[in-house]
Amino acid sequence: MREQNLYLSGITPESIVDGPGLRYVIFTQGCLHHCPGCHNPESWDINGGKEFSVKEIIRMIKKQMKIQGVTFSGGEPFLQAEGLAHVALAVHQTGLDVVTYTGFTYEELIEKGKTDGNINSLLCATDLLIDGKYIHKKRAVDLPFRGSSNQRIIDVVKTRENGQIMLMYGD
Ligand code: SF4
Repeated sequence: MREQNLYLSGITPESIVDGPGLRYVIFTQGCLHHCPGCHNPESWDINGGKEFSVKEIIRMIKKQMKIQGVTFSGGEPFLQAEGLAHVALAVHQTGLDVVTYTGFTYEELIEKGKTDGNINSLLCATDLLIDGKYIHKKRAVDLPFRGSSNQRIIDVVKTRENGQIMLMYGD
């Protein structure tokens, strides 16, 4: 694997609010969606963040013993799709699952993936995709793992198998 770097706004080694089970959460730096009411505007600057090598991140994840999986949040993870796809691959190899948050919709990522192999790789390496911008007027405090009701929790594996969007929780 080519040595690659990722730019992060933060890491939370143990979280129960960023996907199912106990999760290691990587907050990427850089987001161009600029959703009004975003809870993490300090993650927007694409020139900011702390630099980590992909190998370093994989090493840190492997030290976390009790987690169900790893979550990529942001920022916009798909701006750093290549490096995250490598992390996701290593995560799967250890038997853990991958949740990816994105301000893009699943359909937009499928379109982008047709011309950008890295986007396709990260999408394919994602088990659950929580998609769509945060829309403040649709703010939902009662929905698990989402900020607004337009956002979907998509089972990417089942969606690919069935050829149609398959939602976790069926909502
Ligand atoms: S996509 Fe996420 S990080 Fe980016 S502006 Fe919207 S809520 Fe904030």
